[in-house]
Amino acid sequence: MNRLFFVWIFCFTTFLFAGEKLTVAVTLAPYANIVRAIAGDKMDVLTLVPSNANPHTFEPKPAVLKKFAEASVYFSDGSGMDKAWMPRFKGVNPKIRIAELSAGISWLYEEHEDHEGHEDGPELDPHLWNSPRQVILISSNICSTLVEMDPANAGFYRTNLEAFNKKMTQLDLEFSNRINALPVEKRTFIVFHPSYGYLARDYGLTQIAVEMDGKEPKPRDLANLVREAKEHHVSTVFVQPQFSRRAAESLSREIKAKIVSIDPLAYDFEANLKFFLKTLAGEAK
Ligand SMILES: [Zn+2]
Repeated sequence: MNRLFFVWIFCFTTFLFAGEKLTVAVTLAPYANIVRAIAGDKMDVLTLVPSNANPHTFEPKPAVLKKFAEASVYFSDGSGMDKAWMPRFKGVNPKIRIAELSAGISWLYEEHEDHEGHEDGPELDPHLWNSPRQVILISSNICSTLVEMDPANAGFYRTNLEAFNKKMTQLDLEFSNRINALPVEKRTFIVFHPSYGYLARDYGLTQIAVEMDGKEPKPRDLANLVREAKEHHVSTVFVQPQFSRRAAESLSREIKAKIVSIDPLAYDFEANLKFFLKTLAGEAK
């Protein structure tokens, strides 16, 4: 009888504490990973874009918006797609706190072949999480907000941030050292969707995208890509599961390069970045 009573009390209090957890909303799985690293199990994390969806054409579903209505904070990356979603997010949750994920970031702009139809000016490149150096900034921004939301656990969040950023600083160093040691012809890569602009900028790589203005390349574009690829002796074409690999496949046949699929939207961005680097260096199996 006594034991049952304690089991009951335990379940009840666990339920109470579970009910008190704040929910943090982020757009993408890699950001959920960073929030989890700092918040531990003290907060719930809601990821808005499913991992198999293309975030550039994603429309938030009613089921996700219903969960979003319960969230306490939304980490906005400040990019164009984020701005497009914002009215709907605020519509279902007018009181939500909007926190800046990208404070202090020096942005890249997406290249557009023709500027017609981009009245708002060039678009910000939203693929911030693919560079360890940007992740360090992002995680500090996340930590500041968590501390403000839940000051009672400030020490816990700061300790987690320190451990996480120690790991990211090591990753940053590893990327700098290994990329600096790469022969020049291995520092240029081709990727269907340009997800690695920050990685390229921060570590001295050159990214060539197959996709043009978010669309499949035209035959003329493909011919230019073949020429560029040959010029730079590119041996790998990266693709990702959320996008068609048709154009990348015909390009790789043309230049006799291998196709490597890598998912930059996966939760474990660290494993992806390491695999990316290994492939670049020609060490991936
Ligand atoms: Zn993208």
